[in-house]
Amino acid sequence: MTKKVTVLGSTGSIGTQSLDVIRAQEYSVFGLAAHSNVELLLRQVQEFHPHCIAVVDDAAADRAARELHGMPGAPVLLRGKEGLEELAAMDGSDIVLNAVVGIAGLAATLSAIKSGRDVALANKESLVTGGSLVTDAVRENNVKLLPVDSEHSAIFQCLQDEYSAKSLQKILLTASGGPFFGRTRQELQNVTKDDALRHPNWSMGSKITIDSATLMNKGLELIEAVWLFGLPAEQVQVVVQRQSIIHSMVQFSDNSILAQLGVPDMRIPIQYALTGLAPCAANGANEEAVRLFLEGRIPFLKIGELVEGVVDSEAFGGPYTLDDVYACDAAARAYVLAHVS
Ligand code: NAD
Ligand code: MG
Repeated sequence: MTKKVTVLGSTGSIGTQSLDVIRAQEYSVFGLAAHSNVELLLRQVQEFHPHCIAVVDDAAADRAARELHGMPGAPVLLRGKEGLEELAAMDGSDIVLNAVVGIAGLAATLSAIKSGRDVALANKESLVTGGSLVTDAVRENNVKLLPVDSEHSAIFQCLQDEYSAKSLQKILLTASGGPFFGRTRQELQNVTKDDALRHPNWSMGSKITIDSATLMNKGLELIEAVWLFGLPAEQVQVVVQRQSIIHSMVQFSDNSILAQLGVPDMRIPIQYALTGLAPCAANGANEEAVRLFLEGRIPFLKIGELVEGVVDSEAFGGPYTLDDVYACDAAARAYVLAHVS
């Protein structure tokens, strides 16, 4: 029987590449979801014939409803955030690939896991903002959480052998350094949106591309690695590998390193607070700041300042619920907006 896949965020960079893989593997598509790019979503519907689609934006969902009206074999149309979660949980798909960008992906990740579905996770923000909620749900529902982020996929592959996983000493998380590698703070004062969107190695969505330019992406990935592989942050070391050819490395207790090349001589220490909800606040502030930068409303260096400001300004700690995560995210965004105008 062919594998049935649901792709959330199917119109994005990871989403469209996932459909390339699905096409090549001749898997079938159970569900597709997007925010507002109805034109592309409907082209995907015509090619892959999903059972169900979800459109998050209201006006876009209206447009999709009009276009689907009377179409033979039209998929079921779900709407809004609730529709995204409903699709993620729906019986009939073998695996949910979450390629939504931002915290908007968290609820769908939880929904898929809680309904017993395996999840292929590109949406790193799910783990950054909701870490223990996600890993607890994975354990309780006995499902697989498969990393899609290239570094984490490389680490995951290195750790398939049970002996290796037990003797893991350190993760070497590689970073390309992004488009501004080697520049001074002074030289970054006036970088433009176009400069920051020009990544040397990867073609990605605009949000993660800006995160690569600020290096926030590596901070998010460090937290992602901590949750995925259960190591303390001190045992995850970021190393620059300008060509992005080594996707990551693992070091074992006998000091051997599973990778083809040696350790690069430059490393960027991205230390990050890992208690409570600080990663969630930083994530919310970062999403809002990147949006403002892309709209030309703040300079490049302001992104880092705002994220730092949010983390310094809040007290985080203790166990948390999904409502706490959203409240923290909203507070962080409000902080950014209050410090911009
Ligand atoms: P993108 O901007 O290209 O695509 C985002 C997708 O999410 C689109 O399909 C969009 O419709 C959907 N979306 C946006 N807002 C939404 C919302 N509120 N609700 C539901 N859907 C929404 O982004 P991308 O570059 O494909 O990144 C997707 C995720 O994968 C991110 O978490 C990113 O960090 C991660 N990732 C991306 C790459 C890459 O090469 N692009 C690599 C590693 C990890
Ligand atoms: Mg990555």
